[in-house]
Amino acid sequence: MNNVYYSKLIFELSQPGRIGYSLPKLDVEGHCICQLPEGMKRQDDPKLPECDELTVVRHYTNASNNNFGVDTGFYPLGSCTMKYNPKLNEEVTQLPAFQHTHPLQPAETVQGLLALYDNVQRILAEVTGLSRFTLNPFAGAHGELTGLMTIRTYHERRGDTQRTKVLIPDSAHGTNPASAAVCGLEVVEVKSLPDGTVDVEDLKALIDKHGAEVAAMMMTNPNTLGIFERQIPVIAKLVHDCGGLMYYDGANLNPMLGVCRPGDMGFDVMHINLHKTFSTPHGGGGPGSGPIGVRKGMEEYLPNPQVKQREDSTYYIMCNDEALGSVSAFLGNYGIVIRAYAYLLSLGRENIAMAGKLSVLNANYIKEQLKAYYKLPIEGLCKHEFVFDGMREEYGGDHHDEDSVKTLDVAKRLLDYGYHAPTIYFPLLFHEALMIEPTETESKETLDAFIDVMKRIAEEAKADRQLLKTAPHHTPVRRLDDVLAVKAAQFTFRDLQASEV
Ligand SMILES: *Cc1c(COP(=O)(O)O)cnc(C)c1O
Repeated sequence: MNNVYYSKLIFELSQPGRIGYSLPKLDVEGHCICQLPEGMKRQDDPKLPECDELTVVRHYTNASNNNFGVDTGFYPLGSCTMKYNPKLNEEVTQLPAFQHTHPLQPAETVQGLLALYDNVQRILAEVTGLSRFTLNPFAGAHGELTGLMTIRTYHERRGDTQRTKVLIPDSAHGTNPASAAVCGLEVVEVKSLPDGTVDVEDLKALIDKHGAEVAAMMMTNPNTLGIFERQIPVIAKLVHDCGGLMYYDGANLNPMLGVCRPGDMGFDVMHINLHKTFSTPHGGGGPGSGPIGVRKGMEEYLPNPQVKQREDSTYYIMCNDEALGSVSAFLGNYGIVIRAYAYLLSLGRENIAMAGKLSVLNANYIKEQLKAYYKLPIEGLCKHEFVFDGMREEYGGDHHDEDSVKTLDVAKRLLDYGYHAPTIYFPLLFHEALMIEPTETESKETLDAFIDVMKRIAEEAKADRQLLKTAPHHTPVRRLDDVLAVKAAQFTFRDLQASEV
């Protein structure tokens, strides 16, 4: 793009001495600064850009126009439920009654808010078939960590201190083993069958070997291939019989909504991502919310502080000595909880099941339309998402040929057509994984347009492979040289350190 305000960094637009906005002159003695110890005072001015207000506005407005989000176009990212965030959620959150509060206000003055928390906790418990939820964790991964800490606390309180291992299928989201490691637990990998589901025979062997040390088994369902795990009752029995607990990664609960419940399947602890299934924004690494729920008998271990209702139906905030401690400042990501509540109430009990069913229908529709062009390693009904293993050989895909059309090329070419690329090369079960999750919020017209483009890309690959290998051709930044990018990034980082910016 040839826009001068955007093609340069804000630092490059800087002109010495130019001022955008000035604060009134200080009319009291420089009080605070004088009290700073000598060694802590700044010797030089900070190297901030010096720009006029209009330059700053144009720079960032142009930059924001080059961003891609669900509000700009279709975002078929697998394993992440990038559904539309209704504007109603935003409006409700902006209400003054929600905005003008402080986390240290006495509970008597925020009864409405606490009622909202309690309602969300209850709705989540009902949707999942568990007993009690906390809304404190800030993200899915944070929920996993909190859930595992709850499990560890449960074992410890019973004097069962040797349970240090967590069973995790090899198809799991990367955050599962990461959370287990952060919690100080050891990961034991469980193999998958060719159809992508958990290999129960492998699990049996692992339990025979490690049974007395198993703290929990973590499962994602539908798993990362979008497939419903059919052996859950058998798996849950194996794990429970050896004294372990069942953890459900419910980050993408979308297809289950109103259809079936983890609590009824034998799970003891789970997390949910409000910023996926419950339509709150993802943002750049946040702001998220990863509530966790537990089955009956484990409620007291949930983290502090907790919102509770008294007999006289007023609400209070309490801290419990049995709890695992606390995992967040105050009650978690408050604004996100309000948005999720707005979403839950606008769907209502009647329509919540529609979300799940439509998300499944949409994913299967795309899959069936495209499987003549892209390799479908696992046939049959999928849930909210599915995975292709690259392009079919007739169109130029071939795992054994270095020069064949790769999943990366398809993803890059999609950018030329104005689509966000799907998740690629995850899960690691296939060479050329390309993972698509349309969600229920997209219309049939949008899905058809995407399907047409995916077919067109396959035809292009057949006619002119080079066109794909060099894509994207119409984006502000063309295909990057990954190796050069890594080297250059290291160089700039050293540069930055040297110049002490
Ligand atoms: C997104 C996701 C997570 C992690 O959630 P974050 O909020 O990104 O930490 C965990 N498991 C699965 C299956 C996910 O899709």
